[in-house]
Amino acid sequence: MIEKLVTSSLKMGVIAGGQLGKMLIQEASRWDITTYVLDPDEACSARNVVSQYVKGDVRNFDDVYAFGKQVDLLTFELEDVNIEALQKLKSEGLKIVPDPDILALIQDKGLQKEFYVKHNLPTSDFACYEDEEQIKEALDSGALAYPFVQKLRKGGYDGHGVSVVKGENTSLLKGAFMVEGLVDIEKEIAVIAARNAKGEVRCFPAVEMTFNDETNLVEEVICPANITDAQSKEAEKLAHEIISKFHMVGLLAIEFFIDKSGNILINEVAPRPHNSGHHTIDSIVTSQLKQLLRAILDLPLGSTQLISSSVMLNLLGEPGYEGPVYYEGFEECMAIEGVKIHLYGKKSTRPFRKMGHVTILSDSVEDALEKVKEVKKVLKVKSWEK
Ligand code: ADP
Repeated sequence: MIEKLVTSSLKMGVIAGGQLGKMLIQEASRWDITTYVLDPDEACSARNVVSQYVKGDVRNFDDVYAFGKQVDLLTFELEDVNIEALQKLKSEGLKIVPDPDILALIQDKGLQKEFYVKHNLPTSDFACYEDEEQIKEALDSGALAYPFVQKLRKGGYDGHGVSVVKGENTSLLKGAFMVEGLVDIEKEIAVIAARNAKGEVRCFPAVEMTFNDETNLVEEVICPANITDAQSKEAEKLAHEIISKFHMVGLLAIEFFIDKSGNILINEVAPRPHNSGHHTIDSIVTSQLKQLLRAILDLPLGSTQLISSSVMLNLLGEPGYEGPVYYEGFEECMAIEGVKIHLYGKKSTRPFRKMGHVTILSDSVEDALEKVKEVKKVLKVKSWEK
């Protein structure tokens, strides 16, 4: 493998060709690595940058297995992948980064929480239930009380599969789930950690995330987070500990809550590049994608030094528009100092679809946030069709 390392004779497979897959492939192409992507959508974001597009369902055993057979090493850009196929490929000697066993654990929010408790890592109280009946029994016996947060153990994303249950009138989600105490959240922050096979770990600076009330999607990612030095050190220390305790190689994005008393609690993790790391492309010496490639290829990890303060804004499809996309105000937006526009190449928009992001670099977060207001005013994702 080593002689193939950064040449076109190395075939790297990426499971799913969304924006994160596209960004990783763009990075790999700088080294001339031959890239393969598996995605059901022929018009996926990665399609126009990947060396070899393979059509297939990432949740289907046969599709994932056949894809793995074509490449020298494999990684993924989303969690919802067929684990059995990955495990079979691994048992047959394919290098898969991160390890499928870690993915299997992280796919299940209940197992994730048990892991934190076992390793004495701070997280909110929780319990796992099989069905609604068990919740009702727990409520009757006093073991559980309103309000609580119900989360599907598997398959949730962007707030789908999470419900705040305030009382009897909130209907419960169906499926295996876990229940958490409602945290009185002051801020939501994230740290992305990277680890290579030699055990070297580097963390990106903590970022602060703000959410859109209507969509639950991350609206802005602010770097550095407006938290105390002690809090950012604590979050980085925890990130270092978590990735090391998973013994994982690759990238781990860790989302934390800071509660009103200042406690830092682990919410959840994702073993892949992450929305909260988009700014790293423009504002950190080594981007999250470059770092992941280094980890995958067992190279020394790169500097996570901040080049500039930044705010990242997700560019979402404007409500009321669905169809072939155009970007209104693109030129005006480009005239704003420090603005970097990233478009994912999705052909059609729909309300709140993630179509791109904008990173605004500035000497101060305050100034970047002012510019965010201008960007929001001028740049809109629309369609000629309604
Ligand atoms: P997803 O995997 O869909 O991103 P999360 O577990 O991150 O799900 O939850 C989505 C959002 O719900 C969080 O960003 C947070 O705002 C809110 N949330 C989740 N868990 C809790 C909790 N225990 N207490 C209060 N709010 C929560």
